[in-house]
Amino acid sequence: MQNYVLCCIALLLTLNLKAQHTERCATPPVKSEWLKNYQANPDAYAKGGDSILYIPVTVHVVGTDVGTGYYPIDDIFRTFCQMNVDFEPINIRFYMEGDLNYINNSAWYSHASFTDGTLMMEANRVPGTFNCYIVEESAGAGGYYNPVSDAVALSIGNLDLQEWHTWTHEAGHYFTLMHTFLGWESIDYNFNEPTPEFVSGWFGPRPVERVDGSNCTEAADGFCDTPPDYLSSTFNCDAMGFSIQLQKDPDSIFFYSDGGNYMSYADGICNSYFSQEQQDAMRANIINDRQDLLTNQDVIDVPVTATTTVVGPAQGEMVSEPPTLRWEGVENANRYYYEVNRLASFPTSLRIQEGIVSDTSVVIYNLDENKNYHWRVRPFNTTYPCEGEFIGSSFMTGEGIFTDMQNVEVLNDLVLYPNILSAGQTARLEVSLDAPVDMQIHLLDVSGRQVNTIFRGQANGNFVQEIQTQSLSAGLYWLAIEADGVWMQRKMVILD
Ligand SMILES: [Zn+2]
Repeated sequence: MQNYVLCCIALLLTLNLKAQHTERCATPPVKSEWLKNYQANPDAYAKGGDSILYIPVTVHVVGTDVGTGYYPIDDIFRTFCQMNVDFEPINIRFYMEGDLNYINNSAWYSHASFTDGTLMMEANRVPGTFNCYIVEESAGAGGYYNPVSDAVALSIGNLDLQEWHTWTHEAGHYFTLMHTFLGWESIDYNFNEPTPEFVSGWFGPRPVERVDGSNCTEAADGFCDTPPDYLSSTFNCDAMGFSIQLQKDPDSIFFYSDGGNYMSYADGICNSYFSQEQQDAMRANIINDRQDLLTNQDVIDVPVTATTTVVGPAQGEMVSEPPTLRWEGVENANRYYYEVNRLASFPTSLRIQEGIVSDTSVVIYNLDENKNYHWRVRPFNTTYPCEGEFIGSSFMTGEGIFTDMQNVEVLNDLVLYPNILSAGQTARLEVSLDAPVDMQIHLLDVSGRQVNTIFRGQANGNFVQEIQTQSLSAGLYWLAIEADGVWMQRKMVILD
């Protein structure tokens, strides 16, 4: 990876200029040294035969400073699973490593420049995994691979395009592939002009690939089984996946671009494969240059088929404190995806909370009193997050699900100070009690998801609990505090 660093300063400067228009993909059009070496002698590199290569993926879900705008979990699953379908023929299988990493930072959520994207990626990298950042705006493009930080950014707008393969395309870049039209970035191909022998792209002149294959190793992406392609903006294709736009090479031989290739800019619906040479290069890249991705190959590789059973609350039960949703564990499931909604049809617009947990229970804090709530849970494993079935139930909240301190007899005072904190500042929760009580304190994010449990035990007298915030992003948080069976809430804001 170090080879990239040599060119990075020039890249950053250039890309900041280029990132001003919305483009399809802002991956720097520069071959890695690794790819150059590989293409000079592909037979010298092991490719691992038919073995399945399991690749850990860290999914960073970026939101605004106050924790809004996250890409919904079911959409993350849908696009992630599309990538796995696309890589299935190559025996490369992605699995989600760890939990979704929620990051609150408006400057990163909508970043216009590579420089900001690089800051985001340097600050949040999880080593030994394929780091993917889902953002609203990614350097003026639908997505990009950043060779400086060795991670990809994916824009929500492009992931939303249902037939597109944005994540697949950027993963191709991550495994060193270039666009099939390399050299033509930001250049308009003009059928009426004679096609030149060289195009002057962002990084100097490159030979124009010829139909007869005579310069396929030095022109464009350097793969001989990806035919000439001069189209550097999104194009339509026919039923066979070829461009509608007729082109002619420097020898005046006519051709159509092959939009089937994931590394072309054909409309997403046209894309359906990587060429054999691209496949070989990606596997060789993983096995020879990215061994750190292969340290855990002991991955559950069976989709979850069993459904779970709801343990509680019972259907229709009235709850008088933040309810713990419980269900049975299921074989081959290493995570559970849950959702709480106002309606049994679970419309996105009335979603109260969604999340992923490894346990078979979750406490829901952000509820109003005297309301009906519906919830459902789906067991899955992180290699097949789209497989598995939902089981649902419902409950009602009683009066005073969160009340205040006057309802705790022995509680004299409860102060959170400061409740507006600068980054990294420690908050103090001071509680004054006449008698010992059982107490628990949980930190919740803006959407009510539990970040961690701060205290659980017995408190008495002048009880002080420090709340460390170094590892927390800027944004709005809640403390859910239970004392002697009564639940209270306090708001806490961490500034940028
Ligand atoms: Zn690209």
